[in-house]
Amino acid sequence: MSSKPNATSHIFHPEKIIVHHSLTRDSGTVSWGAIRKYHTQTLKWDGIGYHAGVELVMSGTEANYEVLMGRMWDKPGAHTRGHNHDSLGICFIGDYDKLPPKREMLKAGAEIIALWMKIYDISINNIFTHHEFNKRKSCPGVLFSLFTLKMLIQNIRRVDDGEEEN
Ligand SMILES: [Zn+2]
Repeated sequence: MSSKPNATSHIFHPEKIIVHHSLTRDSGTVSWGAIRKYHTQTLKWDGIGYHAGVELVMSGTEANYEVLMGRMWDKPGAHTRGHNHDSLGICFIGDYDKLPPKREMLKAGAEIIALWMKIYDISINNIFTHHEFNKRKSCPGVLFSLFTLKMLIQNIRRVDDGEEEN
């Protein structure tokens, strides 16, 4: 997360996807709301800075990784300084400097990213980590594998292709 988006009149057309982590602990209780509250009430942004989040959500005794809605997709977010005007931001809740994200979490994120790629015609080469644009941040964490995430995205896209042939 970084700067407040500019109030621009031109149409927001995302050309890339940028991956983040929240640096908060993923404890099974929803912290997406806390992030939204921080962005809108403390920082006074128009909405949560990310277009989507992935978080472990407890329901009774079951815990599942859920994709959570963030900033509307036709509006620039506030997540990567200098790149908010042409990118969608997704945040994996947790601190992946300490532990790698679970494969199930990456799979949940891969689903929404694959959908964005399809809707906005974004190539796999246009998925980046926040770190690639700001070397002072390790975001989404030194133990977060963009390679694995891209592999899972490719798997989803291959399944899509297969279904189209049936
Ligand atoms: Zn980040």
